[in-house]
Amino acid sequence: MSALPSGRYLPDEHATEALGVELAQWLADPVNSADKALVYLHGELGAGKTTLVRGILRGLGHTGAVKSPTYTLLEPYDAQALYHFDLYRIADSRELEFIGMDDLLAENVVKVVEWPERGGDRLPRPDVEVYLEVDGKARRARLQAGDPA
Ligand code: ADP
Ligand code: MG
Repeated sequence: MSALPSGRYLPDEHATEALGVELAQWLADPVNSADKALVYLHGELGAGKTTLVRGILRGLGHTGAVKSPTYTLLEPYDAQALYHFDLYRIADSRELEFIGMDDLLAENVVKVVEWPERGGDRLPRPDVEVYLEVDGKARRARLQAGDPA
């Protein structure tokens, strides 16, 4: 599967996870050279970003728990070669220097980032962006390769 899904209506959390599994397949497909891709997840609190990451990790073979790294900023999944960031609690983008963000982003793993907006202009352009929106009790997703600009 070399095409990135572009948009999706997600009636429940299982649909969000299933989209994550699809995204994992895209990231893992050698055709896409996306095994160290930088993925930004946009959307308000509760939009389903962490649920999507859970799906991505399942798609990469992770069977254990997936906790939100809201307080730790980063949860590494070494067996899946994936780093899960949540920058929600970053008050100042200079905090990224303290956690050595540049070095972390240079690692040879997939990087998935919730709340990339909090990183300010210190963060590089992503390879994939996902926009999640609440739609009643459901969600809508839009995916985009590269930078929209
Ligand atoms: P975020 O990380 O964006 O804050 P979460 O992934 O933690 O959001 O999800 C918040 C809640 O929304 C969870 O209870 C989750 O099960 C639920 N959820 C995720 N996707 C959907 C969906 N497509 N429809 C309805 N609820 C969803
Ligand atoms: Mg979250």
